[in-house]
Amino acid sequence: MIKYALVCAKGHDFESWFADSAAYDKQAKRGLVSCPHCGSAKVEKALMAPRLSGTKKRARAAERPAPAPASETPAPAPVAMISPQEQEFRAKLKELREHLTQNASDVGTSFPEEARKMHYGETEHRSIYGVASLEEAKELVDEGIEVHPLPVIPEDRN
Ligand SMILES: [Zn+2]
Repeated sequence: MIKYALVCAKGHDFESWFADSAAYDKQAKRGLVSCPHCGSAKVEKALMAPRLSGTKKRARAAERPAPAPASETPAPAPVAMISPQEQEFRAKLKELREHLTQNASDVGTSFPEEARKMHYGETEHRSIYGVASLEEAKELVDEGIEVHPLPVIPEDRN
């Protein structure tokens, strides 16, 4: 489909859709394109309509610019300007994470179970870390068990 800005002999501007430029030419020639304001079949493309020039193929390309393929558009990526204070905070987070992972036991997916055991005095208190689903973490919090998400630090790229 192609949209043309048209103008009738009396100067009324209007727009109309056509299957392609050839369809417009055909319909205009037969007087099938008429002005919606005065009904005049004497219409022509308004000046802002794409100009037909060069070969037919070139003209078509000019009339119907192909939309850029989505793959060519780079996907937006998270970016940030990091202040020195935040750099420091980030370094501390990294330290904390390293400290935790070096001094606590990785209990993996049995984290919720292990956390409960400690909370209810079935095992000694110690530092553990592992994984818990959001649902599991919520349940632990509901039971009064304090859990903290382990800080996740995006990998340094430099
Ligand atoms: Zn008119």
